Amino acid sequence: MGSPRAALAELLAGNRRFVSGQPIHGHDVTAAAAAASGDQQPYAVLLGCIDSRVPLEAIFDQTFGSICVIRTGGHVLDRAVLGSIEYVVGELGVRLVVVLGHERCGAVASTVDTLRGGRSPGGSLAHLVEQIAPAVTEVGVDDPRVHPLAIRRHVLRTVRALRADALLAAPVAAGRLAVVGALYDLATGEVALLET
Ligand SMILES: [Zn+2]
Repeated sequence: MGSPRAALAELLAGNRRFVSGQPIHGHDVTAAAAAASGDQQPYAVLLGCIDSRVPLEAIFDQTFGSICVIRTGGHVLDRAVLGSIEYVVGELGVRLVVVLGHERCGAVASTVDTLRGGRSPGGSLAHLVEQIAPAVTEVGVDDPRVHPLAIRRHVLRTVRALRADALLAAPVAAGRLAVVGALYDLATGEVALLET
């Protein structure tokens, strides 16, 4: 199934098609296209935020069967997410994992508010805040640029957590799997890779 590098190049080419307004799959959301996908042979798994402005298949101009998508608030990891990624890598042979953060992420903003002394969220929303909090703390909750910086830091922390996962660490070390971080620009639609 190609190399991690080839998979990343294919994915970024899709984003360029989306940004340029020339998608090749973008309008093909028909039942016929779905049926034509046959057995799935995805080449990447994307972990992104639930934000309604960041539909992953669309912004990478992907079609039925080409990528696996997982979305949680602030792309927070839990066992279900990790198990899903382990499945896609181990059983479907996918060789690229992308963690995609985005500007003006509400989950990160909520975490900043909580750490600044606002009212803590109840229920399971607290889990999201707890998972994002280390990134905010590392940047400094009173830093004037805490929001954009914490978003980037949280992507990097998520990438590192995935690279250290019990079932992912070995293929990463062997070069069979790449885990990369990226950031989506809400204004331009562009995806930029982050140095990890
Ligand atoms: Zn978000």
